[in-house]
Amino acid sequence: MSESVSTPRVRFAPSPTGYLHVGGARTALFNWLYARHFGGTLILRIEDTDFERSSEEMVEGILEGMRWLGLNWDEGPFYQSKRLELYRQTAEKLLASGHAYYCFCTREELEQRRAAAVAAGRPPMYDRRCRRIEKDIAAQRKAAGEACALRFAVPEGGATSFEDAVFGKVEFSNAEIEDFVLLRSDGIPTYHLSVVADDIDMRLTHIIRGADHISNTPKQVLQYRALGVQLPVFAHVPLILGPDKTRLSKRHGATSVIAYKEFGIVPEAFRNFLSLLGWTPGAAGKDADGKDREIFGSDELIRLFSLDGISKSNAVFDNDKLAWFNTEYIRAYDAQKLLPLIEEEWAKAGFTPDRSQDEVLAAINLVKPRARNLKDFAIAFRAYFIDSFEYDPAAVAKFLKDDFVRALLVELAARYESTAEFTEASTEQVLREFAEEKGVKAGALINGSRVALTGQAVAPSLFAVMVNLGKNRVVKRLAAANNVGTV
Ligand code: GLU
Repeated sequence: MSESVSTPRVRFAPSPTGYLHVGGARTALFNWLYARHFGGTLILRIEDTDFERSSEEMVEGILEGMRWLGLNWDEGPFYQSKRLELYRQTAEKLLASGHAYYCFCTREELEQRRAAAVAAGRPPMYDRRCRRIEKDIAAQRKAAGEACALRFAVPEGGATSFEDAVFGKVEFSNAEIEDFVLLRSDGIPTYHLSVVADDIDMRLTHIIRGADHISNTPKQVLQYRALGVQLPVFAHVPLILGPDKTRLSKRHGATSVIAYKEFGIVPEAFRNFLSLLGWTPGAAGKDADGKDREIFGSDELIRLFSLDGISKSNAVFDNDKLAWFNTEYIRAYDAQKLLPLIEEEWAKAGFTPDRSQDEVLAAINLVKPRARNLKDFAIAFRAYFIDSFEYDPAAVAKFLKDDFVRALLVELAARYESTAEFTEASTEQVLREFAEEKGVKAGALINGSRVALTGQAVAPSLFAVMVNLGKNRVVKRLAAANNVGTV
C-alpha cells in the first residue's frame, strides 16, 4: 500500500555499448515524464558490467543525448561496475536461502550439450546437472578453487507471472525458464542479477522499459520472490519500428539521438515526437472538434503522461512526421527562444552575425516560416546574418546570369542609395518605377535582387527582406551584382 502513496522512483538504465539510440531515448523520456508527473525521482544507472563492450565515450554520448533532450535526472549516474559488492552480497543471499547453486560445468561442456540438444530437437537449456550436487560438496569444491558460476534454481513446476501495466497479466511456464546464471565464474554478475539487486537497492517502484525485456522479467520476478521483496510495477513499452514495420535500425536512417541534433532538430520537437511513439494522451489530447492533437509542449506532456496511455502495439518511426514537428516548433518559437539553438549552429558554421541583436531577431522572425531545421539559419539563411555568404549557383544560373539584369541591379542600387525613405512600400515603388522606366518586367528585377541580396532563389517577400537588411546592405549587395559568380 505504501508504494501507491509514496512518490515513484524510476530509472533509466542504459548499457553504454552504443550511443543513445531512439528507443533508449524514448524509454528515458517515458521514465522522465512519469517521474515529473508525480514529482518522483529519476535515477540514471549505467549498466556497464560488459567491460569489453562498454566505454566511457559511450557513456558521454548517452549523457549528451539526455542533456540535449532536456531529460535531467535526480540521482546518479551510478555505475554498475562500481557496485559489484552489492551483487556479490545479493548472490550470497540467494545461495544461502537455497535459491541458487554453484555450477561447475565448463564452457566447452555447456557448448557441447547445447549443440547436442539442438541436434536432438530439444530446447538448448541448461540440464541442471550441478543442481544435484550436495551443497556441502559444492562449497568444498569451490573452496578448493574449482571455477564455478552461480545459477538460479528455477522452480521445476508451475508458472511465473506478473501484472504488466501495459500488457496485463504476463505468464511464463517455469519449464521454459532456464536455470540462468547470476554470477559468472570470474565473479562478474549477469544482467539478471545486477538489475534486480540494483532495482531493489535503489528502491525503484516502477520499471518502465522496452518490451524487448518482457522475456527477461520472469527471471527477475523469481529473484524478487526468492529475496522476499515486493515486486515493482512493470510497464513494458512497445517497440519502435521503421516504416516497413521491421525493427528500427540503421537501414531506416539515423538511430542515434545525437544525429538528430546534428540534423538541426529542435530538442522539444524531438521530445514531442518521441512521446507519441507508443503513447497517446487519450481524451485530454483531443481538440474541441474531437480530433487528436499532436503538439504538446513539455509541461503539457508532463501533465498528461500516464502509463494507461501506453499502447500495446508497436510504434512506427516516421521521418516525415518528425520533420513536420520540427517546422511546427520552429514556427511557434519566438526569435528569442530560437536564438540559443541557432547560435549553436552559427558556432558550428564558424561565424557570428555582424548585425545588431534587434536586427538578428527580426531576421529570425522573417525567415523562420521557411526553415526546415535549425541548420538553415546558418546555411541557407546565412546572408540574413552576415555579409560574407555564398550564392547558390543554381539560383545565380536561374535569375542572375543575364548581364543586362546585373547591370540594371547595379543601377537600381544607385536609386536606392538616393532614396531617403526605406520601407516595404517605398522600396517596392522604387523597383517598380525603375522597371517601367527601363521597359523590363518587375519580376526579373525582383528575382535577380533576391539572389543578389540573399544568395538564394527563394526568400520571404523581397521588400520585407530589403527592410530587414537595411539600406546600406541592400545598396552594397545590389551594386555587387555584377561580380556574383563571375570569379
Ligand atoms: N541495460 C538494459 C538495456 O540497455 C536495460 C535494463 C532494464 O531496463 O532493465 O537494455
